[in-house]
Amino acid sequence: MSVHHDSHEGILRSALEENGLRYTEQRSAVFEHLANTKSHPTADEVLLAVRPALPGISLATVYKSLETLVGCGLVNKLTYSDGSSRYDGCTDPHHHARCGRCGRVVDVPGSLPEDQVEGLRLGASDFVVTGYRLELTGYCQPCLTAERV
Ligand code: ZN
Ligand code: MN
Repeated sequence: MSVHHDSHEGILRSALEENGLRYTEQRSAVFEHLANTKSHPTADEVLLAVRPALPGISLATVYKSLETLVGCGLVNKLTYSDGSSRYDGCTDPHHHARCGRCGRVVDVPGSLPEDQVEGLRLGASDFVVTGYRLELTGYCQPCLTAERV
């Protein structure tokens, strides 16, 4: 079987290999779903999406697969103060807007200029900055339409 060099499967196989991890159909199905959606799903939503192809898969396996993919740098985990988490298959720099009513997360293109990030970093004294996260807050259009917020 020939695998296209930059296919999702090829990317997954080499990332798992680099980290000394096995390729499994569960990890593959979870990664394939995240690579093909812009919806920033929760683990429960990922389970619903992959179960038609893998009827025996459990939520625990989905969680473990997600954490493996995050550990390999293939997926970003977005955690929130209410304890919920969402997963993002796009690791290119971008921001997010999150609806304060339904929790939906959408991509906002762009990244802060380096000097602005550096300026913020200088303000965080005695803190080793490894990254930053910018999230716009508000309400999505369906929620605004359903109910005047
Ligand atoms: Zn909403
Ligand atoms: Mn995103």
